[in-house]
Amino acid sequence: MSLPPRLARRLRSARTWITLGVLAPIGMLVVSGLMLLDLRRDAWEKAEQTSRNLLQVIERDIARNVEVIDLTLLAVQDNLRAPGLAKLDPAMRQLVLFDRAATAKDLGVMFVLDENGDLVEDAAVTPPRAGNYADRDYFQAHKANRHLGLYVGRPIVSRLTGERMVNFSRRIDKPDGSFGGLVLGSLKLTYFGRLFDQIGLGNEGAINLYLRDGTRITRHPYLETDVGVNIAGSRTFERFAREGVGSFVETSVRDGVRRLYTFTRVGDLPMILNVALSVDEVEAGWRAKAVVIGSVVLVLCGLTVVLSLLFGRELRRRAAMQVELARLSQTDTLTGLANRRRFEEAYARACADAGRTGQPLSLLVVDADHFKRFNDRYGHAVGDEILKGLARCLAASVHRPSDLACRVGGEEFVLLLPGTDEGGAHRVAKAVHAQMATLAVGSAGIGPGSVTVSIGLASAISDAASLYHRADGALYEAKAGGRNQTRSAASAAGRPVEKPGLRIVGG
Ligand code: GH3
Ligand code: MG
Ligand code: MG
Repeated sequence: MSLPPRLARRLRSARTWITLGVLAPIGMLVVSGLMLLDLRRDAWEKAEQTSRNLLQVIERDIARNVEVIDLTLLAVQDNLRAPGLAKLDPAMRQLVLFDRAATAKDLGVMFVLDENGDLVEDAAVTPPRAGNYADRDYFQAHKANRHLGLYVGRPIVSRLTGERMVNFSRRIDKPDGSFGGLVLGSLKLTYFGRLFDQIGLGNEGAINLYLRDGTRITRHPYLETDVGVNIAGSRTFERFAREGVGSFVETSVRDGVRRLYTFTRVGDLPMILNVALSVDEVEAGWRAKAVVIGSVVLVLCGLTVVLSLLFGRELRRRAAMQVELARLSQTDTLTGLANRRRFEEAYARACADAGRTGQPLSLLVVDADHFKRFNDRYGHAVGDEILKGLARCLAASVHRPSDLACRVGGEEFVLLLPGTDEGGAHRVAKAVHAQMATLAVGSAGIGPGSVTVSIGLASAISDAASLYHRADGALYEAKAGGRNQTRSAASAAGRPVEKPGLRIVGG
């Protein structure tokens, strides 16, 4: 199946291929850029989803454990009001007060303090261990405020066990409503460690648990120095506190790493939990893909550009070659003038134009006189030199761009003169004879004026069809009339004919 001519022409054009070679890579770059952006968005969505899921699981676990401790604290509050408790022996009293709460795995300590901060009931042992906690933040807080409810204390090192833990406490009121001490239960920080250890967050990922005042309760990965640090006032913490739940990207005040923070409150406790993933690690997988895809696309784009430039150059070269071939096919190799083929085309076109526009058209048929003799006497090579000189004389005699000098046969030439009337054509013929009078071939001893031409001239306005025939007839007359002269076709009808420098042949 053949292509439509317009398309076929486009496909042969160097410009089409160069344009394609530039547009196609731009298209490829745009598409792959969009694809990479899409992949990046996927990576972020996945990271955010993972963070949210983790956060939910951790938050629930912590909230449930704190709830268990709080339920125990509430039970102890109740049990302390039970009548006859004071009369029970210490072991029995311990059992009634704390049930089996003290055996919970992550429970640090659980005890009751009196209004002076002295330890009076201990879930772990009887009799209770000695100790005064009047200096602790939770003791001061409950003493100062009757309505704190469940108080979450700052992370501390237990004086009883030496372990790091976070305390949860409730105030005990005396019957008259005055401060009667508090009941306290604690959660070891190792609980959080175990909880967080199961979670892989990459090398730079972190989980943080804060009190609402900005004090860090614990961090994963765990570092002793992180515990108890207050980051209130940092950009990250301000957003945790203000927004409660959400996520954002920010640079950590702790280590300068840019992270995706996803955060939430823990139940209705005064605690804030966050999962923080390093931005670098969120994007690491995507970056690796982007480098591979980007490199491949760039290489392909480069290849496309180079290949289409090469292809375009080849097409240009071919087109130039075709133009040159076309020119050569219409040029006479010896003289460099237009050849017979070109003359025939130009003659047909000029006849048609003259018919259409009504412009005059003239034709001179020029033939070297006794050329055979020159050949015979000086040899073929000198004959060729004379022909070249003759061609130069003809070319020098015409000046309009539309004038065409052609070699139509061995020593026969033609001057096609569109838009030129008979008078003009005579002037050109005169110029030819004048040029010929200067032609010489010094190497062969042929002096100026030795080579002459006869010219047959014909002009027409509209009826150009028989022009060549008429000019040829006039040439014949010029030869018959003694050569070295111009005869006009009109002269056959009795018009004057000019013989250059010699005579005017009257009709
Ligand atoms: P006339 O004045 O009647 O035209 O005589 P003439 O000798 O010029 O005419 P004729 O047709 O008898 O001879 C033309 C000669 O031109 C014959 C041929 O040897 C020579 N000729 C034709 N083409 C070439 C060419 O390319 N080179 C050379 N050197 N000679 C050529
Ligand atoms: Mg001749
Ligand atoms: Mg001839």
